[in-house]
Amino acid sequence: MIAPPLPNGPTDRLKRPLRNLRISVTDRCNLRCRYCMPEAEYAWLPRESILTFEEIDRVVGIFAALGVRKVRLTGGEPLLRHDLATLVSLIARHDAIADMALTTNGVLLARQAAALRTAGLRRVTVSLDTLRPERMQEFARSARHADVVSGIDAARSAGFSSIKMNTVVIRGYNDDEVLDLLEFARDRGLEARFIEYMDVGGATGWAMDQVVSQREILELVAGRYGPVRELREAGWAPAQRFALHDGTVFGVIASTTAPFCRTCDRGRLTADGTFLLCLYGEVGLDLRELLRGGASDGEIVERIASAWRARNDRGAEERAELADRGILHRIESLRADTRREMHTRGG
Ligand code: SF4
Repeated sequence: MIAPPLPNGPTDRLKRPLRNLRISVTDRCNLRCRYCMPEAEYAWLPRESILTFEEIDRVVGIFAALGVRKVRLTGGEPLLRHDLATLVSLIARHDAIADMALTTNGVLLARQAAALRTAGLRRVTVSLDTLRPERMQEFARSARHADVVSGIDAARSAGFSSIKMNTVVIRGYNDDEVLDLLEFARDRGLEARFIEYMDVGGATGWAMDQVVSQREILELVAGRYGPVRELREAGWAPAQRFALHDGTVFGVIASTTAPFCRTCDRGRLTADGTFLLCLYGEVGLDLRELLRGGASDGEIVERIASAWRARNDRGAEERAELADRGILHRIESLRADTRREMHTRGG
């Protein structure tokens, strides 16, 4: 039974609608990026707790009834989830979902790009933090840099027109590659997105002096390309977009130095079915229990709607207001509840 759509989707206490859902389809990953999974060992979510494709499909229908129009599939690394194209084709059947995107580290993309496109995926974002394989080895403990580049090229060949390239910029690691990465993206018709290093759960090595701010990134770019024009756009997307004199567009996600919580219409679903109101949120609503406990779609719609209406989260803003800003969670606290980890929340 399809959930009856709520006449007006819920808005939260800061008048923000729920229009965007990030779905983590697995907490597992085949990389160990320093800004997300720097530790040697990790505790994983129990397999039996992971939502099935049918359950995710049902949840998407429920969120569509609440006004969600955009779905982004994330992880961990979503392409590790077996037969992801089948899930994409299920979600693509929901007429209300106008946009479906995927965030991937690209390592497995070359083999799956065409099938994902055929299944109905609209957009792809690939994380690429360096053009130097030896740096990826050091930074993400992986020798598969070439696979990421092949994955990007396969996505282009598969017909994905809007491909974004995410780069987390860290001082002393890859801040000397910002311009080369922008060139790489420009040459391939990708839209580069430079992300400020965030103190989210899992970033146990985070420190403010490693953050390269939006202002610094723009100075770097202007230093080579001349004045950069800001694209003033309505909308709720996290990135601020800019254009070079030749029209090349790139973005900066400045969650650490210029948080954008006031325009955050995003909810998150962990791989085991916990609905989170904010990336920094401590607790969430356990949808798996409701799904497997016999609740009707209508009941689940009401539970989510009341949770959203009570939402006044602005995690990044609150972090930015802290005088002595350090890491969000120590390793013991992450071990105590793995859902605090970024890789279980879908970033
Ligand atoms: S910190 Fe929370 S409220 Fe702010 S933009 Fe991120 S998810 Fe939204």
